[in-house]
Amino acid sequence: MEGIAVVSIEEVAQRNNLRLYPTSRPGQFKAHCLVCGDKGGQFHLYVSSNKDTFFCHKCGTRGGAVAFHAWVKGIDFAAAKAELYPQGQNRRPLHPAETLTPQQRDEMGFIVRKPSPIAPKGADQKEWNRYRRRVLDWMWSEWLAYERYKRGQTERLLQLLERAGRTAAS
Ligand SMILES: [Zn+2]
Repeated sequence: MEGIAVVSIEEVAQRNNLRLYPTSRPGQFKAHCLVCGDKGGQFHLYVSSNKDTFFCHKCGTRGGAVAFHAWVKGIDFAAAKAELYPQGQNRRPLHPAETLTPQQRDEMGFIVRKPSPIAPKGADQKEWNRYRRRVLDWMWSEWLAYERYKRGQTERLLQLLERAGRTAAS
């Protein structure tokens, strides 16, 4: 799936109008289980945006983002996958920072996770969207700066090697 953005479990929930309720733990949401029919203040379903997984503590339904889409819509896994990745592509317009892999983010020492598309508890969604955009812009500019730095290092190394080669030859 290289080069293709993964559809997050939060995005699957948004697409299906399944409301996720933020909890006190970052990246952890609670929701009403569609099987158990819990209502009001009862939440059996837990959704992790860190791991892109869901789990119902009562009926044991669990899985990843594609399985979540299949479960919410009542379709099979293959159909869910085809819907989320039409012709192997995710058509959602992406911010370039969203295409950075976790390895690339690790490489430049980012400990900040990509901000969730869903506003945390008590935050205004519109304000959160603006904040998210700013963080993604910042991540992307940091990545470009890092790439320039890496290119600079490589050029300097090549110059040194070249000079060393000339010294050895003379
Ligand atoms: Zn359940």
